[in-house]
Amino acid sequence: MIVMKFGGTSVGSAKNIRAVADIIEKKDGRKIIVVSAMAGITDSLSKIAHRIIDLPNSVIKKEANQFIKEIKEKHTSTAKELIQDKRVLMESISKIEELSGKLETVLLGVGYLEDLSPKSMDYILSFGERFSITIISSVLESKDLKAKALTGYEAGIVTDSNFGRAHPIHSILARNIREKINPLLEDDVIPVISGFIAANSDGTITTLGRGGSDYTASLLGRYLKASEVQIWTDVDGILTTDPKIVPEARLIPTLSYIEAVDLAYFGAKVIHSKMIEPAMDVNIPVRIKSTFNPEGRGTLIVSKQEKIEHVIKAVTAQQDVGIVNLKGVGMIETPNISGKLFSLLGGKNINILMISGSSESNLSFVIKKSFIDEAVETISTGFGDNSIRSLEVVEDICIITVVGVGMQGAKGLAAKVFQAVADVDVNIIMIAQGSSEVNISFIVNEGDREKVVKTLHKRFIEDVG
Ligand code: ASP
Ligand code: MG
Repeated sequence: MIVMKFGGTSVGSAKNIRAVADIIEKKDGRKIIVVSAMAGITDSLSKIAHRIIDLPNSVIKKEANQFIKEIKEKHTSTAKELIQDKRVLMESISKIEELSGKLETVLLGVGYLEDLSPKSMDYILSFGERFSITIISSVLESKDLKAKALTGYEAGIVTDSNFGRAHPIHSILARNIREKINPLLEDDVIPVISGFIAANSDGTITTLGRGGSDYTASLLGRYLKASEVQIWTDVDGILTTDPKIVPEARLIPTLSYIEAVDLAYFGAKVIHSKMIEPAMDVNIPVRIKSTFNPEGRGTLIVSKQEKIEHVIKAVTAQQDVGIVNLKGVGMIETPNISGKLFSLLGGKNINILMISGSSESNLSFVIKKSFIDEAVETISTGFGDNSIRSLEVVEDICIITVVGVGMQGAKGLAAKVFQAVADVDVNIIMIAQGSSEVNISFIVNEGDREKVVKTLHKRFIEDVG
């Protein structure tokens, strides 16, 4: 059995969904399908939710109506273009109408109450995937395949109540997923499951975080013991760097799990960084392929750490991050500053991307820009007013990361990387090496990003052959 996950672009239009259905049809053997919302839909749901709480009561109804009209039209016309079988089409359209009605009700509620909780937000965002599973399962049915649409929860994925970034409850997932999915597979039904959305144990809808459909796919693969998890996307696989910066970027044919995690974590946008862990736990290969080039070989991610002549396999740059510098943190009251910092920020679900402490009373760390305000507030309150002398935020920077398993124990490599950066006259602001030893990350000014990526890619990838 394999898991095939199709992302937003892959299901973004009638034409693309047709290509997806062909790929599914051609694949022999048991399979389960995971899909994202049609491209742009999750963003538009998020936007209308934020907009509607700021509108005067007199126009809420009109705005909600207009939005619903458009989203219903988009999904209905896609269904009509794809589904020949009249009965299947009518069923699909009536499901789209039912969902649209529910969505309109919640938008009005949120608008009039002026209250958009993370819980309501997850409920609103869930509609994108609920529309897409309806359409895609119907398209398969009209091809005379047996298919059934399921939400993440209906497929057995139960999470905690951390709305917006919910965590799966692993102890119940294994049994739950098998109980829901195995009977379908035994009947030769293809389950078409919504990525990204799940529910807590009360059945209230949660989401796994933006881009979380990949994670859904690997959780299902893990607990159903799939032989492979396939991520079908709009690029050929993982590349050596961003082709928008370096047109010479090439496809990486194989990566180890650890390299893939580091790459995803530090900015390669092809897969979600959380998706590797479940696959790695039980050693399931993850294959990334393009829906628009199904014959391409893609990128295969496996446990074996293949050493190739390229010590460095990829260079990434992550934007939208900032540094927080703490100076003069009271050493006597707070002997374990970084420990306390981790637990304060961890409590708010703020992920520290890099950390470096030059002395016990100085500490710098890097987080996503969107978390900076919350982090500053949490730290100011958490450490108390007197224990931090100054707290400084530096923006307009980016993280550059080089990844490659060959770096493990490669002497002098970091020096060579930093020398290459110095040679193009760029200042390194902060350095960190991951404990996995398969990446080196450092911070430079945002304005130097392209120059650094180009230089490192040229020296350590193109020039190596
Ligand atoms: N539709 C969701 C998003 O855009 C989840 C996903 O596509 O993976 O974030
Ligand atoms: Mg998406």
